[in-house]
Amino acid sequence: MNPIYPLGELGEISSPAAANNPTLADQLGVHAPPAWTEDALCAQVDIGDIFFPDKGGSATVAKRICEQCSVRRTCLEYSLTNEERFGVWGGLTARERREYQRIEEAA
Ligand code: SF4
Repeated sequence: MNPIYPLGELGEISSPAAANNPTLADQLGVHAPPAWTEDALCAQVDIGDIFFPDKGGSATVAKRICEQCSVRRTCLEYSLTNEERFGVWGGLTARERREYQRIEEAA
């Protein structure tokens, strides 16, 4: 029977996968949220699905929250860098982000 290791010991496994993905988080596909999310206004309220409205649904409430958020710019940049395809990030819907990026690339 194989021993069961605590998660912390998995980070010390020597294998090709470990060499290519040296951290435990990478091996497990788990990543800590970026530090800026600690100041995310949406993380401080019970948002339900308002940041991920159904197709044709309203993003108005989410956008109003984003307007008051101190990390709005960082959030938007994060979503663009990570090609977030769904939801409201940095006060913009997915369609608005695509338009924003198109304009930025054309400039
Ligand atoms: S800008 Fe909006 S989506 Fe981004 S962290 Fe702030 S409240 Fe959340």
